[in-house]
Amino acid sequence: MRLLITGRPGAGKGTQAVNITKFYNIPHISTGDMFRAAIKNQTALGMTAKGYMDKGALVPDEVTIGIVKERLLEPDCKNGFLLDGFPRTIAQAEALDKILSEQNVKLDAVLDVNVAREILVRRMVGRRVCKTCGATYHIEFNKPKTEGICDNCGSALIQRADDTESTAVNRLAVYDSQTAPLLAYYEKQGLLKTVNGDQPVDHVFADIKLALSK
Ligand code: ADP
Ligand code: ADP
Ligand code: ZN
Repeated sequence: MRLLITGRPGAGKGTQAVNITKFYNIPHISTGDMFRAAIKNQTALGMTAKGYMDKGALVPDEVTIGIVKERLLEPDCKNGFLLDGFPRTIAQAEALDKILSEQNVKLDAVLDVNVAREILVRRMVGRRVCKTCGATYHIEFNKPKTEGICDNCGSALIQRADDTESTAVNRLAVYDSQTAPLLAYYEKQGLLKTVNGDQPVDHVFADIKLALSK
């Protein structure tokens, strides 16, 4: 399975990606997670990415395409992968097509987790993530068993630096102008599968499995 998962910021891509990659036994490649790891490790990539991410802007295409290209060459991607949060621009989508055709492989499907923009600021502002294992929670919609503590590993939950209200609003605008055109791009290629992301997490996952089985 070679899959993409796309959708507005806060739509639930990361949450579903965890289920999908476990179910299909494929690596989860999240450009957002890669950038956050680079920031944590204070690498040159992290320094570059941070300025853009804090504003809710996109990291430049040449930087982002470079790290994805490198990642897709790793041996664990040979039999499939799930790209989460990449591509986010038409230039990235075209670069991905080129990378895959050089490897003589094709995408199987593009999942669009569709959620109306109105509820997404609340999803982002209430998001909490485990600082150790990266598990994602929500203060209202997906609470951990103990407030502020990760169910999986017992570490503290933190708020992402870009999950403030004003940055969330920016990210939604960036999505509309730069990422939304991808839907038509993949529709034309016959790859697009849209699922309703405004339902409980396991209902969304059931719809994803159904969409992928067709
Ligand atoms: P994305 O990767 O698309 O930005 P996340 O998976 O991180 O989105 O989810 C954003 C926030 O919304 C998180 O706090 C998550 O716990 C919560 N969330 C995810 N899926 C749902 C859902 N189906 N219903 C309600 N809240 C959800
Ligand atoms: P979300 O889906 O909630 O916005 P991500 O973790 O996917 O969260 O992305 C967080 C930030 O990382 C983005 O706002 C952007 O600054 C940067 N980023 C992630 N993926 C890309 C990408 N493919 N191209 C450019 N910037 C990206
Ligand atoms: Zn944890």
